[in-house]
Amino acid sequence: MTEQQRMPVLFVGHGSPMNALDSNAFTRTWMSLTARIPRPRAILCLSAHFAGEDSRVVAADTPRTIHDFYGFPKALHEASYPAPGSPALAERVQALVPQAQPTQDWGLDHGAWSVLMRMYPAADIPVVQLSLDLGLTGEQQMALGEGLRPLREEGVLILGSGNVVHNLRLINGAATVPFPWARTFDDAVHGAVMAGDQEAMADYMALPGAGLAVPTSEHFVPLLYVLGAAHPGEKAEAFNRDYVFGSLSMTGYLFGA
Ligand code: ZN
Repeated sequence: MTEQQRMPVLFVGHGSPMNALDSNAFTRTWMSLTARIPRPRAILCLSAHFAGEDSRVVAADTPRTIHDFYGFPKALHEASYPAPGSPALAERVQALVPQAQPTQDWGLDHGAWSVLMRMYPAADIPVVQLSLDLGLTGEQQMALGEGLRPLREEGVLILGSGNVVHNLRLINGAATVPFPWARTFDDAVHGAVMAGDQEAMADYMALPGAGLAVPTSEHFVPLLYVLGAAHPGEKAEAFNRDYVFGSLSMTGYLFGA
């Protein structure tokens, strides 16, 4: 048996689904990450757009591309990301997360494929999605992520896809700077992540600006799963520390690269 190199863990701020097709500073950074991460055997994706109050793991052989948005250009609605699934990885996830139930009733949502289309355009690495359990506390979500940690030794890239700050109700297409509360919260999270302050992260709604930055938790929680999968004290690196529409932060974090 060949020894696998330990994979890093990655949280990406995905922003608009158009990043699947657009070339901009954010997508160029995502593409540059690919070169720095050992080629994964498979990818386990934790997307903001596959969430509920349970853990479901997609066990499909060929997950379908889900266009879970409307009103975007035809090219985006017709885009597909034909990566294979991996029932074997789905089974492995069930062994690590005993409450996880296999499902065929999902594929790849845009939280997964809008990022993967840029990082791995050949779509030749198997991808499995695990739903976010929003019924758990922050601490429990981090513990669940910790349960996934052994996958890193097995060549699996754990990819969380959401946004640290995500308030669609207050979106402003003309904004060139973030709302003050957006920057305040993003900075507080950045401080806690870089300091390895797990306690502050588990209790993220107590951080300044949280009420407006995280009106619902699904875009934030992928970061908690990713933090759980990182080793305590593991080197963290932030990227894409910028904002779109005033109320979305694009910040991402890479651990263990
Ligand atoms: Zn999203």
